[in-house]
Amino acid sequence: MLQLITRLGIKIEELQEPLRHQQDKRLWKHTTNGQFTVKSACEAIRDQNVEPPWHKFLWSANVHPRTSPIGWKILQKGLYMDDVLTSKKVALASQCCFCKKEAKSFDHLFFNCSLTKRFWELVTSWFCDNKEIKKVFDMMGVCKDRCTLVRGLWKVCTIIGIVSI
Ligand SMILES: [Zn+2]
Repeated sequence: MLQLITRLGIKIEELQEPLRHQQDKRLWKHTTNGQFTVKSACEAIRDQNVEPPWHKFLWSANVHPRTSPIGWKILQKGLYMDDVLTSKKVALASQCCFCKKEAKSFDHLFFNCSLTKRFWELVTSWFCDNKEIKKVFDMMGVCKDRCTLVRGLWKVCTIIGIVSI
């Protein structure tokens, strides 16, 4: 055992002697004083720093600070779409407000409706060769390899478009 300790480079004579006359006690590692608090427990189990993949796309310097929070709520699917409400057993007759043909869901309203498809076709035609936008990831991929100015313009167009829809 002594050989192992010396092989690890630990000098026994430099180690602090344990406090022999004190009882062991539990310390909560999520607070600086070692005391448990409900707040620190909530902070410890909460997912921190989990950013959605579109985080940087949305919080661009090019998008107006009043627009980004609304875009955040939309992209987080924080709006109560009809499909969310019906999944929570709310009875309603769901209908897209644009085409009046499909149920109003996030994917339909922002990407698959005939009217929003025309919007995406028009906007993408300004920036590239009609790349089809079917979901948020498609939106982020357009202009990815373009210069900063074009990427910034694309971000502004898409975020304002989504907020306007
Ligand atoms: Zn529709």
